[in-house]
Amino acid sequence: FLPPKNDMSQAKDRIEQLSQLLNDYNHQYYVLDNPSVPDAEYDRLMRELQALEAEHPALRQPDSPTQRVGGAPAGQFQSVAHLKPMLSLDNAMNEEEFSAFHQRLADRLGSGDIQYCAEPKLDGIAVSLIYRDGLLERAATRGDGTTGEEITTNVRTIKSVPLRLSGKGYPALLEVRGEAFMPKAGFEAMNAKAMAAGEKTFVNPRNAAAGSLRQLDSRITANRPLAFYAYAVGVVEGIDTAMADSHSGQLAQLAQWGLPVSPIVETAAGEAAALDYFRRIGQQRPDLPYEIDGVVIKVDSLAQQEQLGFVARAPRWAIACKFPAQEEMTLLKDVEFQV
Ligand code: NAD
Repeated sequence: FLPPKNDMSQAKDRIEQLSQLLNDYNHQYYVLDNPSVPDAEYDRLMRELQALEAEHPALRQPDSPTQRVGGAPAGQFQSVAHLKPMLSLDNAMNEEEFSAFHQRLADRLGSGDIQYCAEPKLDGIAVSLIYRDGLLERAATRGDGTTGEEITTNVRTIKSVPLRLSGKGYPALLEVRGEAFMPKAGFEAMNAKAMAAGEKTFVNPRNAAAGSLRQLDSRITANRPLAFYAYAVGVVEGIDTAMADSHSGQLAQLAQWGLPVSPIVETAAGEAAALDYFRRIGQQRPDLPYEIDGVVIKVDSLAQQEQLGFVARAPRWAIACKFPAQEEMTLLKDVEFQV
């Protein structure tokens, strides 16, 4: 069945228009660290494109923004290939969408009795750290998911990133993934200083973190108040005793080896407990010392994660449950200040 030509050509035009817009926004956001629209607007357009492509699969281009992670690595840094792709996350905009995600997993796994690991969705920039024989050897941005930017010297300046692992039993090669971010207090102080000096201020802590990490002069990065929380294990090679068989167990291992892990990570038994976490963290959000834009709910069993696998740009076993956007309000507030 083919929809009437008119419909099809209208959809084609709109798909092209949305792809072009989203590609431009991606470039501004990921490459220039300077977003041109609020996240909520970007998310709305992305969802419109996803819906159109789902309705007209033949019109979906292989390089559509719906199929890609992040942006191309910037030319001024050395490009590095990730040992294992660094993907994005699908998102749920409300509780109903989380419940639909839970139901899809329950159908695939044959049981709704799913243990989750619930984490804050830190609003910073994803970083991969490689430790060889316990020493930090390389740090890279996510880039387009396959290739990132080598930013080792800059990451070494983040005080919460251990340069050497502690404890015993860590693997000969350990890839840790996590978020580098700028706590709110540091962000505000930095912007106040920049404003007083008549320099450019950052839109939000996320862009401040991204811009700070992608400096060519690491002395500038060293003066930026950055922090890091680990949220996943990437690649592991050469380990005497096996890694834990759950995501939460692996985070506990990372903490034992000296990596900072968010203190508000919890396991949640089933759908109701995960939703309860989403609501509680939503209430705590204004009081947290760093920005979060939601929570991430992950299937805790690594065997079940493997069974569920991946789709184009995100794992099937995790979802970002987003809080209502704050940025739109910030932008409006800024406009008020300017008039
Ligand atoms: P995402 O930020 O929605 O989710 C994936 C990222 O979440 C990971 O790469 C990781 O960095 C981060 N994360 C934080 N805490 C985590 C945790 N506990 N576990 C796992 N990951 C965690 O996806 P994305 O692909 O990086 O970006 C898409 C989003 O970025 C959009 O939904 C939009 O809001 C925003 N964006 C905005 C613009 C704009 O112009 N305003 C442009 C591009 C993207």
